[in-house]
Amino acid sequence: MTSGARLVILGRQGAGKGTQCVRLSRHFVVPHISTGDMLRAAVREDTEVGVAVKEIMDSGGLVGDSTMVALVRKRVNLDDARTRGYILDGFPRTVVQAQAFDEMSTDQPLDVVLDLVVPRDLVLQRLSSRRVCRDCGTNFTAPADEPRPWTCENCGGDVVHRADDTPDAINRRLDLYESQTAPLIEFYGLTGRLVEIDGVGSPDEVFLRATSAVDARC
Ligand code: AMP
Repeated sequence: MTSGARLVILGRQGAGKGTQCVRLSRHFVVPHISTGDMLRAAVREDTEVGVAVKEIMDSGGLVGDSTMVALVRKRVNLDDARTRGYILDGFPRTVVQAQAFDEMSTDQPLDVVLDLVVPRDLVLQRLSSRRVCRDCGTNFTAPADEPRPWTCENCGGDVVHRADDTPDAINRRLDLYESQTAPLIEFYGLTGRLVEIDGVGSPDEVFLRATSAVDARC
């Protein structure tokens, strides 16, 4: 067990952020805050936010900055995140969100931003066979004889093909990543908080690179 940390993880969809976040959250004993998981839960529970964002999410678009900033502000102000830190996955997605986050975290600023680098053709390949547990968010790769229904070995939840993991939505999300999220890399680079991690390799190899980068900064 290692003491807490305040981390952001960036990287294209399918770069392995979900897998690494589960491990990093156990390693640093911090909550894994995935805005995608939070929004999917809101959609499932039919909350006001869920109803408002469902269509945007299904088409692979981005939810508005003010909705996202309010959601994250509330979450990082809970006791676990204030005491131990967090790993933010899927947020910020735009420079506006990043600036808002800096403003709300001046008393407890980010330690490091990890950018998980994986080429676009490789993530396209990974995303088409990605399946995810609806309850705990664990990612799986579909085998040729995919079990149907598929039960998560970690928590017993349903393992499903995400509604936005279709070829059209995947391409839209990757294009949005280039246009909206890539400028974040420059934003965090200019403020000396960015570390690039080679995301190609086994989950163990990538995890070692990520923890070494965080240890060197915290
Ligand atoms: P993810 O699981 O991170 O790929 O997020 C799934 C979807 O949720 C995205 O395609 C967006 O529609 C929405 N979403 C998640 N996080 C954000 C964010 N920070 N800003 C805008 N939209 C978001």
